[in-house]
Amino acid sequence: AFTNTEAFAAELEEATGEKAGNLYRYLQNAQKLYEDVGDIFVNQSLHLRKTWLNTRVLRALKTVRYAHLFSSLNHVNETSFDTPEARQLFNRYATYNGSNPYQAPGMLSLIPHLEQNLGTWYPEGGMISITNALYELAEKKGVEFHFNSPVERIIQHDGRAIGVVVNGENILSDIVVSNQDVYFSYKKLVRQEAKAKKLLRQERSSSALIFYWGMKKSFPELHLHNIFFSKAYKTEFDHIFKKGTLYEDPTVYINITSKMEAGHAPAGKENWFVMINVPANKGQDWAALQEAARKNILDKLSRMLQVPVEDYIGTEERLDPVMIEARTGSYMGSLYGTSSNSRMAAFARHANFTSYIKGLYFCGGSVHPGGGIPLCLKSARIVSQLIGEPSRHQKHRH
Ligand SMILES: Cc1cc2nc3c(=O)[nH]c(=O)nc-3n(C[C@H](O)[C@H](O)[C@H](O)COP(=O)(O)OP(=O)(O)OC[C@H]3O[C@@H](n4cnc5c(N)ncnc54)[C@H](O)[C@@H]3O)c2cc1C
Repeated sequence: AFTNTEAFAAELEEATGEKAGNLYRYLQNAQKLYEDVGDIFVNQSLHLRKTWLNTRVLRALKTVRYAHLFSSLNHVNETSFDTPEARQLFNRYATYNGSNPYQAPGMLSLIPHLEQNLGTWYPEGGMISITNALYELAEKKGVEFHFNSPVERIIQHDGRAIGVVVNGENILSDIVVSNQDVYFSYKKLVRQEAKAKKLLRQERSSSALIFYWGMKKSFPELHLHNIFFSKAYKTEFDHIFKKGTLYEDPTVYINITSKMEAGHAPAGKENWFVMINVPANKGQDWAALQEAARKNILDKLSRMLQVPVEDYIGTEERLDPVMIEARTGSYMGSLYGTSSNSRMAAFARHANFTSYIKGLYFCGGSVHPGGGIPLCLKSARIVSQLIGEPSRHQKHRH
């Protein structure tokens, strides 16, 4: 698909018969929704009175329609597009925060504004260059990094966070910001089991199963981003969110950065990141699920690309929900903290602070405004704004 809207509309019409006008209307609505409503939800703390006592809220109320709040994203897409292909394509945006388009609110129809209207961007060097750029910027600003130094506990005194324990050593500070999954922050760092358990009332977002394949040949028909959709999208999501297992015809996403930067793979070869959405870890037999998924993915890709894909796999690494939890500390290996599969999900997500422990702030994918790299960065910005106004945030409870 093209990022240029006219080219994309023409391509969509030619490939699926979807009228260009439907796409233009959808993207205009997405833009309005993002600018009028999204701004409140992704750039502000929802847990401060001043966020709601603002003229922005009136504008948002005028823009929001019943379907954005009380219908699913799938319903919005069914009423916006005529063809099943366009509906499925735009349903996929729910997975950008690990949710189910048949349950998540129509509000998520604002996401395509970012991708289609503002464009998709590729950071030179791949995603790691965003991390490196932030690291260098922070160093320039005087931040000191201590790697391989897990925080064991947050020290509290008189209802305040006053530092952390690392390697048995007390390090005192004016404030503490935890980027660890908020569930583990409460359970392990603050040691408030009851608070941690309360967080489990919210459904976790989906996780992922990834095969990193070094391919022995190049596939000119593939691009940087490639999606091979399931024929039964709803059934696939029912398997992920209701049955807690994998569907035999999964939607397969393949990312190939060597399409952008030839140096990412040897000449004539490609680096494939092959991902399917899977449920968060609830103790499933991941070894068996991995094998079944690998076979289903290979059958599907071989059929669609008309070559025996397995024959071209030179190297393989894997990542599953258990490994994701072990490596990142994201509870149950969820990619995006809690899901958006309910109308109130945005409000139920934990705030970026807690008035039970003053001076303690939270950022990252498990707290407001949610998971995914852009929103995690927004959470960090919201925290930095909150730190500047301690007297305000202490008045509210979460
Ligand atoms: C395979 C995969 C693909 C993804 N694809 C996308 C995508 O295409 N687009 C997108 O937007 N998002 C994507 N995501 C999701 C995105 O990566 C996450 O939502 C985001 O990185 C979460 O950020 P975070 O800061 O909350 O957690 P993390 O990035 O996991 O950072 C948490 C950090 O805290 C550290 N930590 C944990 N506990 C402690 C402790 N006690 N002491 C000290 N340090 C600690 C961890 O080591 C880690 O470095 C993907 C995730 C995965 C796993």
